[in-house]
Parts: sequence; structure tokens; C-alpha cells
Amino acid sequence: MESILVLTHADDTGAILTKASLETVTAALALAARLSAPLTIGIVAADATPPANSLAATGSRLLAVSGEPFAQPRYATDAAACEALCRAAAATIVLVPGSSRFTRIAAAVAHRLHGFIDTHITSIAPQMQGAPGLASETRESDSPPSAVEATRWFYRQRIEAVLTRDARPWFLLLDAGTNAPYAAEPGSAQVEQIPVTLAEIRTTVTGLRSPQQGTQTIRPDAKLLFVAGAGWTKKQPDGQTHVPEAADLILGFLRSTSASLGSSKSLVDQGGEGQSVLPFLTHLNQIGQTGATPRHPKGLSTCCHGEEPHVVGWRFIAERRAISLDPNCGWSRGKADVVYVADAFQVILKLNALLTQAQS
Ligand SMILES: Cc1cc2nc3c(=O)[nH]c(=O)nc-3n(C[C@H](O)[C@H](O)[C@H](O)COP(=O)(O)OP(=O)(O)OC[C@H]3O[C@@H](n4cnc5c(N)ncnc54)[C@H](O)[C@@H]3O)c2cc1C
Repeated sequence: MESILVLTHADDTGAILTKASLETVTAALALAARLSAPLTIGIVAADATPPANSLAATGSRLLAVSGEPFAQPRYATDAAACEALCRAAAATIVLVPGSSRFTRIAAAVAHRLHGFIDTHITSIAPQMQGAPGLASETRESDSPPSAVEATRWFYRQRIEAVLTRDARPWFLLLDAGTNAPYAAEPGSAQVEQIPVTLAEIRTTVTGLRSPQQGTQTIRPDAKLLFVAGAGWTKKQPDGQTHVPEAADLILGFLRSTSASLGSSKSLVDQGGEGQSVLPFLTHLNQIGQTGATPRHPKGLSTCCHGEEPHVVGWRFIAERRAISLDPNCGWSRGKADVVYVADAFQVILKLNALLTQAQS
């Protein structure tokens, strides 16, 4: 029979678990219920009491590694903490949030436990009878079939694969945004503290350095993805480019909506080709085949042609709209739910005015 462990960690405040951790708890609760399997939740935090209390209603066994060394993300301490939690829980399936903190250590922990890891998992379920997964070649002939199957995308989100593995413990690193975060009234939880003997700590975390206020444009948790295409920097019907106006309109829209900013490849490539560029865009904003595939409930594309290598990055955008001057653009060929054949300069100007009015 399977037994499940979820590894979680506190956020920067130390008081609550990260959203990705809570999403993984949701996935684990659903899997444990469907398999009738025991569930353990492991917490890494300076003080595990507040995060543990937020999980009291799960009714799960709660383990914690806590103390000052575990307040900050650090490879040595996080790997040691998660290894100790895994050994204490002795679970067969270990679900791990795909946060930068745990993505960094998950493979090492799996290795220390002589387990196996798969990453970018988007869903987990009990295995359907008679439906062996792709990794069944790893199966010993007389071992029982895997009870769990996990789904992930390959080849830039073009192929969805269902994996099973007989190797245990099986670590599954869940992509953020694929489950609702667990939420319940806090209670009074019983937490088992797991001791960790740390080797000499050679890395000292001196603090966090984040981009200046207002320059952060990639917001994975935003409800809306706003995509800027190369059209913003191209000559407009008056024969002129209007790059400063484009920058003001885009930043004004982002300020009002807190949307995440994506870009086409053509636009971010322009910097290297000596053309006028929008200074707040980098290749990190690029959406598409050679860019990112973010998850947002809605997306608005502006001044972008909607070519396949770009739109493939919109795989997980639920509702898509586009503003393009070209009525024959890729968006109007079935890639968007709504296409406004219009001048994005005018539309966003009007939209920003309405948003400012609504907020005042
Ligand atoms: C191997 C490979 C990988 C690639 N990977 C990616 C990728 O990851 N991401 C990506 O984005 N691309 C990628 N591309 C490039 C992709 O094929 C397109 O070239 C690119 O997406 C085009 O960007 P664009 O639509 O912004 O620019 P353009 O094709 O120049 O389109 C600009 C659009 O803006 C419109 N426009 C202009 N002014 C206005 C206005 N005032 N109002 C409204 N609309 C206006 C124009 O009508 C036009 O439709 C890749 C290509 C290859 C070959």
C-alpha cells in the first residue's frame, strides 16, 4: 500500500506556508483520499507552529524540522531537513512543491533516499486498471503494478504524458498553479519535531535582494497575462514609431491591473538588433516555444501576430483575447476567444482611463 508525504515550507515571513506548498497539500489530500493511503505533511520553518496550525483540519500526521537555520532557503539545510522528514515518514510517494527553494534540493533528497524523481508534474491520480504508463520498463516482472500515475508535458507543452514508476520512494515535483491552495480554519495541531544534525554550515544568508519597486513585471500569481508584441515598436499609421508612448501605456495598464507582463520573441530580440526597445522587457518575459508557458486564468495579447511558436506558450491561459490591427493574424485563426481588430494604442489608452476612473 502507498503512503504519502508532502514536503512544505514557510514563506519569507515564516508565519504561513507558501502558496505552492498549500497547492501540493490539496493534491496530496485528494490522492490520499482516492488511494485510502495515510498522509503525512512535513514542514520546514523556523517556527513550525503557525504553519502546522493552518493544517490542523487535514487530520494528517504532521512532522516538522524547525529552528533558525531553517528560516532561510539554503541548499545544505533544506536538503538535510527534507531528508530527515522523508526518513521519519518512510513514505512511498513524496509530493514536493515546485518552488525555487525545493526544486533546488528535491533531486538530491530523492538520491539520498535511493528514490526516483519526476518534475513538472501537473496532476496525480490512482492508476487506471490496464493502463500502464510510459516508464513501465523499469518494472520488475514480479513486482505489483504502480498504484499512482502522474501527468506532465513534454516538448514545450505539445505532448502530455502519463507516467508510472515502480521505484519507491517516488518524488513528484508539482508545477505551481495546478491545484487550488489548501485553505481551512486554523486549529491546534500536534507536531512531531524531527531532529536534524547539521554539518558545518558554510553558506550564510545575508538577506534578500529584489528588483526595485515597480520594475517587477513577471507575476506568476496574477489573474491576467498581458502580452506586448513587436507592433508596439513598429511604425504606426502616421509613419512614425511611438516607443515612449507604448512604454507609458503598457506600464500604466500593468499598474492598474497588476497583470503579469509577457512578450513575443520579436519584441525582446530587438534589443540585440539595435532597434528601439521597451527597457522593462527581457527574455524572461518571452512567452512561447523558446520562452515561458505561464498559467493565468486570462490573457490579453496586444500588437502581436499570434504565430504558432508564440501561441504554444499560451497553452495554460484559459481565456484568450487579442488586439491586433491585422484581421488575418494568427489570433483570429482560432487561437483566441475574442479578437479586437483595432489599434492597441487607442484601446489601451481608453482602457487605462477607464481603469483609473474606476479606481478613484
Ligand atoms: C524556432 C523558433 C522559435 C520561436 N520561439 C518563439 C517564442 O518562444 N515566442 C515568440 O513570441 N516567438 C517565437 N518565435 C518567433 C515567432 O514565430 C514570431 O516571429 C514572433 O512571435 C512574432 O512576434 P510579434 O507577433 O510580436 O511580431 P510581428 O510578427 O511583427 O507582429 C506584430 C503585430 O502587431 C500588429 N500591430 C502593429 N501595430 C499595431 C497596433 N497599433 N495595434 C494593434 N496591432 C498592431 C501587426 O499587425 C502585427 O500583426 C520563434 C520562431 C522560431 C523559428
